[in-house]
Amino acid sequence: MGLFRMDKARRLIIAGNWKSNKTNTEAVALVTDLIRDLSTVKEVDVVVCPAFTALSDVSRLVLESNIRLGAQNLSDAGYGAFTGEIAPGMLRELSVRYVVLGHSERRQYQNESDALVAKKAANAHANNLIPIVCVGETLAEREAGITERVVETQVRGSLAGLTAEQVEATVLAYEPVWAIGTGKTASSAQAQEVHAFIRKVLASMHGEAVAKRVRIQYGGSVKGSNARELLGQPDIDGALVGGASLEAKNFVEIIRNAI
Ligand code: PEP
Repeated sequence: MGLFRMDKARRLIIAGNWKSNKTNTEAVALVTDLIRDLSTVKEVDVVVCPAFTALSDVSRLVLESNIRLGAQNLSDAGYGAFTGEIAPGMLRELSVRYVVLGHSERRQYQNESDALVAKKAANAHANNLIPIVCVGETLAEREAGITERVVETQVRGSLAGLTAEQVEATVLAYEPVWAIGTGKTASSAQAQEVHAFIRKVLASMHGEAVAKRVRIQYGGSVKGSNARELLGQPDIDGALVGGASLEAKNFVEIIRNAI
């Protein structure tokens, strides 16, 4: 157990994004194992984000545990004639606390724009849900030397219209697209550099005090063996975990390495 986080005011947040994996039965089995294995963890916020179809059952199971519930998307509207959309009230009833927004897979396959992500983030805040807003450059953008420009545009665009208070309560996730599901992790130095840059952008938008309080997760092939070094960086405040969150043993190992 390390004390390396003592200097950081921000509490670590480690979230598992199960994506389009796990039937309801499988999700129940996974979360049952996590509740058992993580029952003593108090030092970090642990979040699981199952598919919508599993939220109800998982919600009932985590209610009395130290695990919080997240969803993987949210409508930019409320109830109404929006076929296929999930309104905030539906998530609130299930005690969902977080919503992942603007994941690169949604930006890529559903053409989600920064403007749409900003509308969804505003909708989340208006309904007491905490958005986890994802940003990150592609490999081509990194190789072209435009990582900072791309990430700054995404941060400004995806948080546009939010108040300083809402930005402060938002979780950001820096996820280089080239590191997602590829087994290629950004080095801790590469990740720290972009996280520090994002904090600078936040400071220029809403001032130093707000920027210092925003939690910024890293995502991209995080696993037990690299978690400690990544999470030890001064501006990395947690992890958004895809593949390694699908097996209790792997996700638990990441959390054990974070405390
Ligand atoms: C993700 O999709 O948010 C992610 C980080 O995936 P993986 O951990 O599998 O790279």
